[in-house]
Amino acid sequence: MIFATLCAGCNQPGVSLCTRCRFSLASASSQVSDTGIMAALPFEGVARQVVHGLKYRNRRTVARQLARLMVRRLRIGTVDVVTWAPTSGARVRTRGYDQAELLARAVAAELKVPCRRMLYRSHGAAQTGHTRAQRLQGPSFRARQGRRRLTVLLIDDVVTTGATLTAARSALLAAGVDTVVCLAAAATPRALQSMKPAMRRTAAMASVGSSSTHTPRIPTLCAADTLVATSSKKAVRSASAPSLAKAS
Ligand SMILES: [Zn+2]
Repeated sequence: MIFATLCAGCNQPGVSLCTRCRFSLASASSQVSDTGIMAALPFEGVARQVVHGLKYRNRRTVARQLARLMVRRLRIGTVDVVTWAPTSGARVRTRGYDQAELLARAVAAELKVPCRRMLYRSHGAAQTGHTRAQRLQGPSFRARQGRRRLTVLLIDDVVTTGATLTAARSALLAAGVDTVVCLAAAATPRALQSMKPAMRRTAAMASVGSSSTHTPRIPTLCAADTLVATSSKKAVRSASAPSLAKAS
């Protein structure tokens, strides 16, 4: 039996993501919520198929393509480490992998920064199949006590209510992390209702990101971007102390 590679977006044999589906993903708009959660794609159409493929159909190879989109389209700013909101243990055992971890590792590779597990689920139930009220409560996480002044990029696959990322971010901040930047591959139509178009990286920045010799730390252009894209214990990071100046 011959195992053909199928496109994760349209199931056509050939490559893991065909040119048409790549274009479709590239044309979709990125969003940011008022709590600073960024999502690279709307969870519909081809993007939904691709994320579903990663999550439920073992299409692990698309993690890299999604990560590239997440990194190149959004202004992430300067981060020290990438981590992820872990999927429940039961789901990881069933699937054999955690799609959020795959995405986080691929994003970290794109940014050339370390990826570390920093979060654990306090109670294991997954969010899928829960009512909206249950989802809004979200899972609870505990975080490894981290050293201070760390800026963490927190990754998840899909934003539904934002509860998972919000709970994970709170756990990181409680453990002493300085700033948490939340980034998901996609946001559901429901989540999109409370999101607005994200500021995209400029063409110059995008070309820096696509270069094989790009620097790992992508500078944040201005303090306003930092405000939109990050959530911190400090309400405003002073423009006179840009994140670039921070020691790693
Ligand atoms: Zn396709």
